[in-house]
Amino acid sequence: MTDPITACQLMVDSQLRARGLSDPRVLDAMLRVPRHEFVPESLRAEAYDDHPLPIGDGQTISQPYVVAVMLESLQLTPTDTVLEIGTGSGYVTALLGELAAQVFSIERHPALASNARTVLATLGYANVQVITGDGTLGLPAHAPFDAILVSAAALHIPPALLSQLREAGRMIIPVGPPDSQQLQFIRMHNGQPLISLRDPVRFVPLIPGRD
Ligand code: SAH
Repeated sequence: MTDPITACQLMVDSQLRARGLSDPRVLDAMLRVPRHEFVPESLRAEAYDDHPLPIGDGQTISQPYVVAVMLESLQLTPTDTVLEIGTGSGYVTALLGELAAQVFSIERHPALASNARTVLATLGYANVQVITGDGTLGLPAHAPFDAILVSAAALHIPPALLSQLREAGRMIIPVGPPDSQQLQFIRMHNGQPLISLRDPVRFVPLIPGRD
């Protein structure tokens, strides 16, 4: 088995740079976060491969390329406060922790949330907080956010999330039914959401309510 550092470097070169991703902050963060720590032991040999992987409870850790596309779109700065919906393994949460000042991440499955909390704490991410709950409601107590990243597909953009985005804030979210989803990028401009359509994707559904 290739050692994780070499595998990670290969992932960044062949799956990200080679496909046109170039934001140095995002690429550096993807080099720093040990993706193999976020996948089940039995799948560690595949941790840096070019596809999503199962993480339990019928959920998946997203493909590295899609993660990088979503992170690049948000143009995060080191002072940003970010909301993530769908913590899953906690892999994207760690990347957000590298790129922003503070991260709140909501996961509806208590077991996944608990596992992600443990891995993130073990790796020393002190600026991220995982909350068990329904992400479609956002997190009014900590709003507004500079950026929102949603890792599960909604049929429509949840209105609560739009209302928690600050002026000039950015959101990236997969929208659509299982067989025809597309990333939508939203920028809040003069209190109105400006929406642009991005890559076609395939995510697990965003399910309203708690598990
Ligand atoms: N970025 C994660 C992707 C996890 S898959 C990773 O790379 O590991 C999407 C996650 O969204 C799943 O864990 C699922 O349980 C969660 N999810 C679905 N609907 C949700 C909701 N309403 N609120 C919070 N989390 C939700």
